[in-house]
Amino acid sequence: MKEIVLVKYGEMVLKGLNKKTFEDMLTKNIKRRLKSLGKINYSSAQSTLYIEPVDDIDLMEVVDRVGKIFGIAALCRACVCEKDFADITAKSIEYLEDILSCAKTFKVNAKRSDKAFPMNSPQICAELGGILLDKFPNLTVDVKNPEVTVTVEIRDTNAYVHAENIKGAGGLPVGSSGKAMLLLSGGIDSPVAGYMMAKRGVHIAAIHYVSPPYTSDRAQLKVEQLCEKLTDYCGGIAFYCVPFTELQEAIKDHCPEEFFTIIMRRLMMEIAQRIAEKDNCLALITGESVGQVASQTMAAIACTDAVCRIPVFRPCVGMDKTEIIEIARKIDTFETSTLPYEDCCTVFTPRHPKVRPQLADIEKAQNSFDFEPLIQKAVEGTTMKTFNYSK
Ligand code: ATP
Ligand code: MG
Repeated sequence: MKEIVLVKYGEMVLKGLNKKTFEDMLTKNIKRRLKSLGKINYSSAQSTLYIEPVDDIDLMEVVDRVGKIFGIAALCRACVCEKDFADITAKSIEYLEDILSCAKTFKVNAKRSDKAFPMNSPQICAELGGILLDKFPNLTVDVKNPEVTVTVEIRDTNAYVHAENIKGAGGLPVGSSGKAMLLLSGGIDSPVAGYMMAKRGVHIAAIHYVSPPYTSDRAQLKVEQLCEKLTDYCGGIAFYCVPFTELQEAIKDHCPEEFFTIIMRRLMMEIAQRIAEKDNCLALITGESVGQVASQTMAAIACTDAVCRIPVFRPCVGMDKTEIIEIARKIDTFETSTLPYEDCCTVFTPRHPKVRPQLADIEKAQNSFDFEPLIQKAVEGTTMKTFNYSK
């Protein structure tokens, strides 16, 4: 029996005139993701994309990969039939045997886009429903709330039968909302923040600050590994690595200890937005969550935001750590994030950070030293590499 995968478009079907742009972007993202599997034909009709393997391809793998692509409401595997009612019946029984023999209630749903097919939709439902009732005595019909919906689609070249419905990743196709720069640490929160913005169609670039010799190569490798894991959801990611040691040492030598973290975060934002500008990113993204640590109180966030000329998105801002961890586990970044390598933030952590810093005090402290030459040096010394799908 030949199988295909059907993909139902998500929220973007509401996009009116822009719908086509969104659909094209989604199709492009899906094709790119499945390219390495072999030859596949694609066609679309009525907010559904038909993925038809030409080569012998593992459909579990197709479903697994496509299930992580944003812009999809639901997907399912379907059996390909001749446009002939006898073939549709025979294949329905064989293909859906496992599901139908365990269920109690079902209904048949028919969609006939080829009006030349000799039976209309109600006739297909009634006939096939009757045959399935005879074949599976455990079943009764429930049109309102069935356990299994057997769907028959009659299209131009073939008919398709399916019953499973797998929930898609939701959201909007990555790229449809433009690009933003994710401040990616080795922690739990920032990969989750990147995932959440990718879900809203944002193409992610990532920036990471390293402070050798205080931070090790392994800490950087860990972040690169996180980047690679994110590609399953986010697609290709440009990863920028910023040498941050001299700036951190300058903060330590010239600023009051209680302000270290806030000033460091302001310098991170400054560098991020300069690189964001070069890479056409329209916003910054961080993994901050209100109240989680001293640098994430509202007063501290206000001091950080004061240097930002572009919007800063903080999708984890109202989430508890347990909620963030739940997503980190789902997207498989949690284990990597909890590997015990030091981050540049932890290297010069003040003993008593200011919980309610005043912007004027922070600015005064920061202005007592000219950081600009070191900022420029860090931007110039930034390296970039791109990550693509992990397989
Ligand atoms: P995370 O779990 O994402 O590391 P956190 O709770 O540890 O977050 P902080 O260490 O205060 O919080 O960092 C807050 C945010 O600042 C991070 O979510 C991330 O966006 C950014 N950030 C922190 N350290 C770095 C770094 N070394 N490189 C890039 N971004 C960083
Ligand atoms: Mg951190």
